[in-house]
Amino acid sequence: MNNKYKILVIEDELNIRKFVTALLDANNYMVLEASNVSGGLMMFSSYLPDLVILDLGLPDNDGMVFLNEIRKSSSTPIMVLSARAEENCKVEALDNGANDYVTKPFGSAELLARVRSILRNSRHSAEEGRLSGGKFQTGGLCIDYDARKIFLDGKEIKLTQTEFNITALLSEHFGKVLTYSAIIKEIWGMSDYGSIKKLQVNMANIRKKLNLKPGDNKYISNELGVGYRMHNDNE
Ligand code: CA
Repeated sequence: MNNKYKILVIEDELNIRKFVTALLDANNYMVLEASNVSGGLMMFSSYLPDLVILDLGLPDNDGMVFLNEIRKSSSTPIMVLSARAEENCKVEALDNGANDYVTKPFGSAELLARVRSILRNSRHSAEEGRLSGGKFQTGGLCIDYDARKIFLDGKEIKLTQTEFNITALLSEHFGKVLTYSAIIKEIWGMSDYGSIKKLQVNMANIRKKLNLKPGDNKYISNELGVGYRMHNDNE
């Protein structure tokens, strides 16, 4: 079958690569393998995969080099797979265009769920999310960019200018985690770390207006310590 999703796995540790490859293969994905950055770049340009699962600690170069190279010309989703549990690595990868981040060790169910979510979100943002006429829709949430209005299940939600800007920004990067600093820079034009508080206050108001209860992750989820993501399912 040639309608399978193609996933490129770039990982130098053979055990992990074989584990991920077997798992994806058993779940009906077509898997391509590379064990370093240069091999990964070659496989990427030859096969144009639908998703890349990228290890950061690779023998010939840092996985970030692959990420930066691909992002010069492609928005293909990239999921970083790394033992580096530190939050700043997570943030750095996301700020450089990674779509998601899974920390080793990980379970097969978790990995598959993340893969499905990324592929679904990238398909949605490419084909469904942005409607013609300057509108965006996901589930019951509709954004009219031109009128600067947001509707939930057909009813207008009254947002402040800033709240609208944040929600619109998340929708423009549908499915992707936007880090706190990326959002702050975009909305307020500064990289002051102290303004996280301001962002959190605005986000709390947006969530309240969208009728989201604490812990409820419909439409917008908080990636703790990292950032926010808009998506189309309650995950
Ligand atoms: Ca490695």
